[in-house]
Amino acid sequence: MIRRRATAVHVLRAAGFVPAVLLAVWFIMPSYRGDLTDYEAVVRIRDRTGKPLRLVPEGDRIICVPVPLDQSGRWTASALVAFEDKRFYRHGGIDTVAVCRALLQNVLHGRVVSGASTLTTLVVKLTEPRGRNIWTKLVEAHHAREIEANLTKDQILEQYLNRAPFGGNIYGIEAASRRYFDKPARNLSLAESALLVGLPQSPTRLRPDRYPARAMRQRDVVLSRMFENGLITYDQLMTARDQPLELRRQSLPFLAPHFCDFMLQRYPGRKHLETTLDLEIQRLSENALGRRIGELASRGVTGGAVVVIDVRSGSLRAMVGSPDFWNATASGQVNGSVAGRSPGSTLKPFAYTAAMDQGWCTPATMMADVPMQFAGYTPQNYSLEYSGPVSVRQALVQSLNIPALKCVEQIGLDAFVETLRRLGLSSLNRGADHYGLGVVIGSGEVSLLDLSNAYACLARNGTWKPLRFVAGEPEGAGHRIFSAESTYMVADILGGEERSNELVGHMADAVLPRVAWKTGTSSGHRDAWAVAYNPEYVVGVWLGNPDGSASDALVGGSAAGPVAGEIFRGLYPGGDSPWFDKPDGVKERMVCACSGLPPAVTCSAMEQDLYIPRISPVQRCAIHRNGEEHWPAEIQAFMERRGMGDSSMVSAGSTLRIESPADGETYHLLPSTPGVRQEIRLASSAVSDAALYWFVDDELLQRADALQPVFWPLAKGAHTIACADSAGRTARVRIVVE
Ligand SMILES: [Zn+2]
Repeated sequence: MIRRRATAVHVLRAAGFVPAVLLAVWFIMPSYRGDLTDYEAVVRIRDRTGKPLRLVPEGDRIICVPVPLDQSGRWTASALVAFEDKRFYRHGGIDTVAVCRALLQNVLHGRVVSGASTLTTLVVKLTEPRGRNIWTKLVEAHHAREIEANLTKDQILEQYLNRAPFGGNIYGIEAASRRYFDKPARNLSLAESALLVGLPQSPTRLRPDRYPARAMRQRDVVLSRMFENGLITYDQLMTARDQPLELRRQSLPFLAPHFCDFMLQRYPGRKHLETTLDLEIQRLSENALGRRIGELASRGVTGGAVVVIDVRSGSLRAMVGSPDFWNATASGQVNGSVAGRSPGSTLKPFAYTAAMDQGWCTPATMMADVPMQFAGYTPQNYSLEYSGPVSVRQALVQSLNIPALKCVEQIGLDAFVETLRRLGLSSLNRGADHYGLGVVIGSGEVSLLDLSNAYACLARNGTWKPLRFVAGEPEGAGHRIFSAESTYMVADILGGEERSNELVGHMADAVLPRVAWKTGTSSGHRDAWAVAYNPEYVVGVWLGNPDGSASDALVGGSAAGPVAGEIFRGLYPGGDSPWFDKPDGVKERMVCACSGLPPAVTCSAMEQDLYIPRISPVQRCAIHRNGEEHWPAEIQAFMERRGMGDSSMVSAGSTLRIESPADGETYHLLPSTPGVRQEIRLASSAVSDAALYWFVDDELLQRADALQPVFWPLAKGAHTIACADSAGRTARVRIVVE
């Protein structure tokens, strides 16, 4: 009796006191500070069409994929309301009936036993976590009123469904639907929706993958409430209850892995990355690279990378960092597209484009592809052969080294390196002297990503733009580096109709898009490159091994070219690709086929050439004068040597002979070309690897192996050139330089 009376006093006291306090504090309570705009702890990376590339759980590893309410499933909202808060549409955030019942129970038991939580207060709890006590409940109720005043009922449901816990690190209906049923929430069946909305009450205890029986019992409770509330028919109830639990776990998207890693590093802290990547082009690139590596793996090539850029906007469309991200033995997680590697010959087009803008050459301009010494070193062509007089067009198409070096010497090494930096090749960050003229044949290092974007400048009529990775971000301010005229002429050289066939290989039926392309091979066969472009896309391909090991298969044209070609074929399956319009500033003219200059009266062979009026050279051909041919000294010497036959054909005899220069030969020294030493090659009949000693005017010039090329810079006057081998054999010739 006593106990019952005491309880009754409690109740009476509480009935008077508590409401008075509540009323007083209601108006001084802090306002709601939860964040309803941001979903916690997941970074989503999407491609340009919205396809998810990766979800990145962060912090406490929450996985959440917010969706609008109308994407949460036909039955989800009604199941939720029936189960959690059946008066949801009638109350203003606080379910007074439930609160009174709860308060009474709390007082009777002297502790908190019952929730009386509405969906609105659940949203408050999810966004402003607090402990459990009476005061907390009051604050939550207060904040629920605020939310009700600011959001519609549907918005509140959407907030709850996207934030509720569904077991493990799964938050939100969409993540739960994908995790347990491998489908988007909008396709959930009645039974599946009912199962999911029952979980948040006790997500750990009810996890359907661990405790399927409990989860099913909870599902049936939800279904019963729906039936009781008239939301489903008896037939629907029974059909849904008969549904077995069929869990299908879906793994999280993990596409374009190197690109996503690259973006996370580049944009730390960004929750939503709507990127410029195009998943279709990415897959096309991955497949093309994967196939080629499959063919080359047996020859020791396991690494490679592809970059595709949309020319007009500068947007990155594909980035493949390795053939297989998960291949640990091939360092698959290393992103080859951003690694600095020797670019081989791929920078040559920039030298010729600059030279054309400086008015120094046109596609037909003659260059000397002969042995020549540059600032202390004697470069060789990749083929180890020399062509003599060649046009710029031939020099670029055949990727000859000597003319490219001479071209850079002509435009100035400092200016060329500066141009490369303005093209975004920021890894070339040392002084020009560090690289030397050899920068044009790969003495520096560049990344495929930067290189491809440098080519985008050629494809964009000479305007460079920074790469764009995030959709919707404004395009970066561009700057002009080359003229539209010079880039057109270089594209014309690199994109001759037949060259497309060479890039992709001959296929009778294939319709080939017209592309400009250049390949590169680094010294020692460590890197093979191909960059192809048209007015819309740049496709850059690098093949090599992450550890830098060499392979004789690493030759740009044959190894990397087909990958670029295949991607371009995939970009234009009908072959209907665009090509560059000739700018008004590019004209055509007839030139001497030898010099590439406007013909003199005695020039015999002519050809058509492109040129830029008021920029390109206009002086007449100087080779054909007075009925004679006047070649530059180094070409003259080369042609005379070649006329004698190839020294390597001479078999080893008992006597030592000097094969080049010929005894009694006369050379013509050209009026000086700045920085270029005109020289002749010294060659003997020796074929052994024994040491040879070369003398000029009885002074030792060089000790060299018999097969090693030796050059002597021409000096005016009469000279004696001699050589001796270690066996004591000697040979001697006399020449005159005029
Ligand atoms: Zn001529």
